[in-house]
Amino acid sequence: MSKTINHLLLQVVFTLSAATIGLGQEKPNILFIMSDDHTSQAIGAYATLLKSLNPTPTIDSLAQDGICFDNAFCTNAICTPSRACIITGQYNHNNGVFDLGGRIASKNQVLPILMRAGGYQTAMIGKWHLKTEPNFDYYKVLPGQGSYFDTVFRIQGEKPWPKNTIQYKGSHSSDVITDATLNWLSDHRDTSKPFFICHQYKAPHDFFESHPRYDDYLEDIDIPEPETLWNKPDSWGSLATRGFQDELIPHIGTSIGRRNPRRSYAVDLPKQFPNEFKWDSTNPNLLDSDVKHLAYQAYLKKYLRCVKGVDDNLKRLFDYLKKNNLFDNTVIIYTGDQGFWLGEKDYQDKRWAYDPSQRMPLIIRYPKAIPAGSRSDALVENVDFPALMLDFAGLAPPKTMQGRSFRSICEGKPEPKDWKKAVYYRYWMHMAHHDNPGEMAIRTKTHKLIFFYGCDYQGENQTPPAWELYDLRSDPEEINNLYGKPAFAAIQKELKAKLASLRLKIGDDGSHYPACESIIQEFWDYDESDRQKAIAVSNKFRVAREASLKAK
Ligand code: CA
Repeated sequence: MSKTINHLLLQVVFTLSAATIGLGQEKPNILFIMSDDHTSQAIGAYATLLKSLNPTPTIDSLAQDGICFDNAFCTNAICTPSRACIITGQYNHNNGVFDLGGRIASKNQVLPILMRAGGYQTAMIGKWHLKTEPNFDYYKVLPGQGSYFDTVFRIQGEKPWPKNTIQYKGSHSSDVITDATLNWLSDHRDTSKPFFICHQYKAPHDFFESHPRYDDYLEDIDIPEPETLWNKPDSWGSLATRGFQDELIPHIGTSIGRRNPRRSYAVDLPKQFPNEFKWDSTNPNLLDSDVKHLAYQAYLKKYLRCVKGVDDNLKRLFDYLKKNNLFDNTVIIYTGDQGFWLGEKDYQDKRWAYDPSQRMPLIIRYPKAIPAGSRSDALVENVDFPALMLDFAGLAPPKTMQGRSFRSICEGKPEPKDWKKAVYYRYWMHMAHHDNPGEMAIRTKTHKLIFFYGCDYQGENQTPPAWELYDLRSDPEEINNLYGKPAFAAIQKELKAKLASLRLKIGDDGSHYPACESIIQEFWDYDESDRQKAIAVSNKFRVAREASLKAK
């Protein structure tokens, strides 16, 4: 950001905040709560399959008092990029955080900078994951991913970043992150100012380690299993996700059961926790279905125990706010940095442009302005979150922010006529960690078009390119790919044109990684010769993957 823009921006902030104070309006506190990988399927206010387990009574109470967004989406379903979108209000190709290696320099942490300039006392507590020193008045953050137990923090204070570490022996991260926010509220808070706190849990991130007090939770319960863990119709997927004649089914997307020989919970959970899980996934006497069932049950129990730890800790935090008369004059936002796969389609992790990972839970409570028990199907993106928080603070977003405030929607007004009709998605980390191809997508309220362009930044390590189109009204599980079906040619053409123009509008114009972009352009129209090329890529990828598995 140039000095001139910075200066102009601060002027706007001061003018606005002076105007707000002049009107005698009280600024609300803002408490932004984000858990890592907490997906909507595991939140009572959204859940269907897991609803009877009542996984999150405390978080659900926010929804009962406030608004729940059914169409909130991240623009890139992975930790660091999503966090970068929220701190900057920019899409990843503009904030530079394409993948887990990205970082946001202190001077570009626009959200806390503007909050502070607007009169807020700011604090960042818990999982940060943006590598550079947080530009908040106070911080107490996990280094990198952090650890579940014996949690280490980097703490704002006497020693310079990154040497300012303290370990809390015997702690669990969810408990000690909550303690940190409670301590900040009681000991560090300047009561002459409103506060802006980012309170961010590590849980329920992989590999889902909960405090031992949850060991019995759900122990005797058989967790319901998604239908698509076991059965998918022939219409699912494409050359990109199945390969030619299904040859890549084992190799695309990591699995719960044995499907993916490179990475699965069937293998990883007993390896990671040998004292907890005793099954041997290589035992030929164990059926695939037995292994998948064991791995799913183990996975979900671990995940939901972590979720329970978050929900119980939020009760402690909310009880404090209630007792200290802070609960109703605080805008409380609950979200996860992206969604997560809980065994649907035999997938795990996040990253896919499909709804289970693209969707973010988003619940907002502020009884002074938000009607209780409301729901919205407005399309909102994580890049809109900072503009919303600034708006609640009476502050205008700077021009560098690409997102827009949706405060009026929160407050029960109809969607503005010019509100977005589609959201953009792009996952860049082609085939890293969890075997997901590079992809981009456009999602409206009714449809999704995904383009698996299938290459890395250099246009290499190709997987077969293909397109998928879903009608979300009749197919919310995204298992009937309509791409290329004559009856859907009109909507396909319309969405493809919209995806092309949306990319340009938000600045993903292909200039960032030209070699990758040339693959995208090569396969954009996807005529028969492109399909034939994709089949050849499929064969080549399978042969290379099988050779590398054999070599191990
Ligand atoms: Ca995450």
